[in-house]
Amino acid sequence: MIPPVRRIAAACALAATLAACGTSGAPEPAHHAPAKPTASPSPTRPPVLAPGPGGLTPVFEHGPRTLGKTVALTFDADMTADEGPRAAAGEHFDNPDLIGALRALKVPATIFMTGRWAEQYPAQARSLGHDPQFEVANHSYSHYAFTADCYGLPTVGADHMRQDVERAYAALRQAGVPRPLPYFRFPGGCYDRQALRALQGVGVTAVQWDVISGDAFATDADAVVEQVLNGVKPGSVVVMHCTRSAAPTTERVVRAVVPELRKRGYRFAKVSELIAETNGRR
Ligand SMILES: [Zn+2]
Repeated sequence: MIPPVRRIAAACALAATLAACGTSGAPEPAHHAPAKPTASPSPTRPPVLAPGPGGLTPVFEHGPRTLGKTVALTFDADMTADEGPRAAAGEHFDNPDLIGALRALKVPATIFMTGRWAEQYPAQARSLGHDPQFEVANHSYSHYAFTADCYGLPTVGADHMRQDVERAYAALRQAGVPRPLPYFRFPGGCYDRQALRALQGVGVTAVQWDVISGDAFATDADAVVEQVLNGVKPGSVVVMHCTRSAAPTTERVVRAVVPELRKRGYRFAKVSELIAETNGRR
């Protein structure tokens, strides 16, 4: 077992990460260049952003602000390699009731899944991967940071970054996600030029967000609801979590936020749709 003190420290580090990573001095995202005209849309080829200068992995933060009230809810399924014993002892890193709520509310959503989570919950990974309401993308294998200083998360070396992302894709497919999307969310949202360069051969678009829900370790669902409703703009990408133990209010938040945003005229979309809109924008 992990000593409680260490667990609390890790929890706080993650909370700090999620609270701060929108303003953590990350480099400017790569230019959102439109797709080449030859890249005709295909149902089997999800849209990606064109690479940045020098082939750098492109970074997506939100969709167009001027194409109507569309918003993407995204859920990170975090799990680290050393959390297996905690899961075995009964800690829930999954959140089936949240997924049930999204299904009941008919909200399309994008799940950024760690490989380790897919290994722990293969039936859920498979179910999400086969449900057209959802798209499953990559959140690394074991939630290690891709920069040296990412709020205390253990770090992946630059020479292992590509391997880590590919290992996560392999774990997702092994668990039964047939077509994980070519989108990668950096653990903690931490990235730099070196990380973007390390992943440029993988063909992923890095997906950040513009609205931090604040659901990580929150106990007051109303405060999270307020933060989301105050933050959402047309084209927004909201980051939330799909793990009961670290984000216990998220289902309640979704049940409150979804009808309210619909009342305000918003439509829910997956990240792929916002990326497609971004590519089509001139
Ligand atoms: Zn995460």
